[in-house]
Amino acid sequence: MRGQESKAVVRRMVPGMLMLASLWLATATLRPGLAATPDQPTLVTLSIVGTSDLHGVALPRNGLGGLPLLAGYVNNLRAARTLDGGAVLLIDSGDTFQGDVESNLSEGALIVDAYNAMGYTAEAVGNHDFDFGSVDSPAARQLPGDLRGALKARAAQARYPFLAANLIDDATGRPVEWPNVRPSVLVDAAGVKVGVIGVMTIDALRSTLAANVQGLRIAPLASTIAAEASRLRAAGAEVVVVAAHAGGRCERFDQPADLSSCESESEIFQVARDLRHGLVDVIAAGHTHGGLAHHVDGIAIVQPFSRGQALSRVDVVFDRSTRRVARTQLFAPRQVCAQQDAITGNCVAAAASAVPAKYEGRAVAPDPATVQAMAPALQRVHTLQATTLGTSLEVPIQRAGELGSPIGNLFADALRDAVPGADVAVVNNAARGLRADLPDGPITFGRLYDVFPFDNRVVQITVTGAALGRWLAAEIRQGRRGALGMSGVAVRASCLPDGIHVDLLRTAGRPIHDDDRLLAVTIGAPTLSGSLASPAPLGGIGPTENAPVVREVVEDWFRRPGHLSQGRLDDATHRGSVFADAHTADCLAQNN
Ligand SMILES: [Zn+2]
Repeated sequence: MRGQESKAVVRRMVPGMLMLASLWLATATLRPGLAATPDQPTLVTLSIVGTSDLHGVALPRNGLGGLPLLAGYVNNLRAARTLDGGAVLLIDSGDTFQGDVESNLSEGALIVDAYNAMGYTAEAVGNHDFDFGSVDSPAARQLPGDLRGALKARAAQARYPFLAANLIDDATGRPVEWPNVRPSVLVDAAGVKVGVIGVMTIDALRSTLAANVQGLRIAPLASTIAAEASRLRAAGAEVVVVAAHAGGRCERFDQPADLSSCESESEIFQVARDLRHGLVDVIAAGHTHGGLAHHVDGIAIVQPFSRGQALSRVDVVFDRSTRRVARTQLFAPRQVCAQQDAITGNCVAAAASAVPAKYEGRAVAPDPATVQAMAPALQRVHTLQATTLGTSLEVPIQRAGELGSPIGNLFADALRDAVPGADVAVVNNAARGLRADLPDGPITFGRLYDVFPFDNRVVQITVTGAALGRWLAAEIRQGRRGALGMSGVAVRASCLPDGIHVDLLRTAGRPIHDDDRLLAVTIGAPTLSGSLASPAPLGGIGPTENAPVVREVVEDWFRRPGHLSQGRLDDATHRGSVFADAHTADCLAQNN
């Protein structure tokens, strides 16, 4: 293995050396002004630090991450580079905003405030960066308008560019040109011209809300990067870095050339192999939430897992005399923590053996400027979360009851009330789209948001009694606890020799017949974060762009004065929507 590796290196080195020689001649004769001056060291180090898939996690979690502490690590590295005359480039590889509540309720503004303070060089756009849709009102309600409005607002807020070279506008056939969104950027780092290109995974537009990416398509990564890198090189770039919202996954980081612990089919490896040698020096990868610190076909690829819990790093050592990259040095993803073990240096929770974390020879301290930059948006979010909706609960409402979902029933009641003439509403919580219980006490916006943080919209469909019955029987047969929330229909399930059988009754007790046509209301899929609130909800789903947002419908329902009596609440949450006879449990057991 090692013998093969070194042969491969030699094979690559020979043409590289020839090129170095010819370039040296060119430098010496044609571009003397760019060579190192006598008082400058020949080699200069550019530390490229990568973050990716932050998913809105601005604050520490389980003792790891948090943007102020991450900024502290970057500060220590900047101090080291200042001493040796080098520079740090801070690059984010996308999926930056959607995830934690503090970021979601500011539509990512909190994160851009922090990134501006941290001095980011650039960030790539990721699939989930489209998730927020249009710009929200201050009360976190989606305003009508451009469904890419929130993303464009974040780009406009940033003091560094958003990069998306392979995001093609169907109308022009060219990369999108939104304010501060562009294919690449050329920056000066310690006197070295560095080109940074942003791309996203070929699957990006299938991994966000479809309505938000209409009229866009993704161009192949490798050919896009090759064309853009050539353009940047022609414009003077001496180092080319790709911020890729596409990645891979390896288990070990001790041997950068050893890919045996890696997923070999990783998208970013294929991209690296498809690129001509010498075009790209570094790829800061993302999207898969994996870790990388590996050389693939001469390109240094790094990836820092996710949620700001680690940062990735590669040092590019640049030779000022030849104006070429002398070598790249890879570092294993570095966990971001305040405490480390005194002996191993690994992150630990506060323990007897723990000492303050050190990086680049200095203790790591949270960056005060980043803390300060985040304060106004955090304050706005906390105020919004504390807003009461006018209803108070005497007892908590659970997501999961025996067969039904009490919160699901409540959501279904709200959805049915919102659609005139609706017969039934169904909320399928099978994939845990409802994310939290509602605690007792006043219902606040924050608590409702914790239950359903997604921006799915209401959908209406017409369905026969028979089709609804078949769908419900199939759902009940799965035996998933707390899967169903229903309104307007009661289900009597019984165990017959051929399996589960359901009879449907209107709430008034009248049976629903097989050929009855029912107006049904449910939640449009998919939800964000890959968590589906309603997998295969009652068959097909129509367009949802202009339909109301589910959470806003439920919020209004709670807010409507006097309409939600305690009796109605008890009815919505405690009634058994699914009446199973005594044998149904046995029947479920037999069928599973
Ligand atoms: Zn992604």
